[in-house]
Amino acid sequence: MTKNLGRTITPRTALLLLLLTATTFAQKPRPQKPAATAHFSGQNAYTITQQYLTAAPKRFVGSPGHTAAENFIKSHFAPEAAKGDVITDSFTATNTPIGSVPMRNYIVRFPGKKDGIIVLATHYETNYPLKDIAFVGANDGAATTALLIEIGNYLRVHPPQGYSVWLLFDDGEEALKDWSNTDSLYGTRHLAAKWSQDGTLTKIKAFLLADMIGDKDLNIDHDDNSTPWLRDLLVTAAKNTGHSANIYKNSYPGLQDDHLPFAQRGVPVLDLIDIDYGPPTAEHPEGGFHHTVLDTIDKVSPKSLQIAGDLFLELIRLINAR
Ligand SMILES: [Zn+2]
Repeated sequence: MTKNLGRTITPRTALLLLLLTATTFAQKPRPQKPAATAHFSGQNAYTITQQYLTAAPKRFVGSPGHTAAENFIKSHFAPEAAKGDVITDSFTATNTPIGSVPMRNYIVRFPGKKDGIIVLATHYETNYPLKDIAFVGANDGAATTALLIEIGNYLRVHPPQGYSVWLLFDDGEEALKDWSNTDSLYGTRHLAAKWSQDGTLTKIKAFLLADMIGDKDLNIDHDDNSTPWLRDLLVTAAKNTGHSANIYKNSYPGLQDDHLPFAQRGVPVLDLIDIDYGPPTAEHPEGGFHHTVLDTIDKVSPKSLQIAGDLFLELIRLINAR
């Protein structure tokens, strides 16, 4: 996410990226087999991040890489698709700065035993304005897509005993030109409106968003736009899982992210985001890895993905126990 656009490429980075890209395209993506995992594994999530980046290094809307990203996500949920629990939400974003753009959200449902839904969400595409540089969004989109896939692997073995859990892979989070209320969050704005009309929204107990939390240097920000009781629950979840040192070092007065369209319609929301990403630069005061060619797999760690997974699963448990 964010509003800044980075275009800094040093010659050394360019060479590295050239090599990386060459390696990437030399490897043919292997077909993905749906996995089942007894315990959430940060290492698995990291491996899936690598595989996702190999299959779809650039995933901006309308590109072949975007289609590859969709296929990658779907390939991990064949058992759920067989049960009719993978929903494709196709729509066209109209009047965008680049015209009409077909987009697709994917919802994977893990039915629970209690009436009510907990949504876990991430955007899966890459930033469109960065389409002409070697931007792969390892932390910004890829790691959290892998995080949700690995949580799905866990839920396949441990079906929800309380509320249903729905994984949402949403499209068009990023601005297509310049971040504004109308140029951003296309997928979630569409889905929040749709779920408002069909009554789904009233069943959502919590909307938990993952964004940029594969960061090696992980500290989840305190976000004023998140619902207070869910922020409190994150503090408890962090304490219970031994990750208190990884949250709320920094506070932001209202982060604009995929949770907003749901918050605006009264859904309890929590954005798990670490906006500080890399050493600050003049162009990127929030961190020089954000929206630059430096957002690569080496900035992501299995440990941070483990922390993120632990927090999400504990949050689900705590929400059910309320
Ligand atoms: Zn972004």
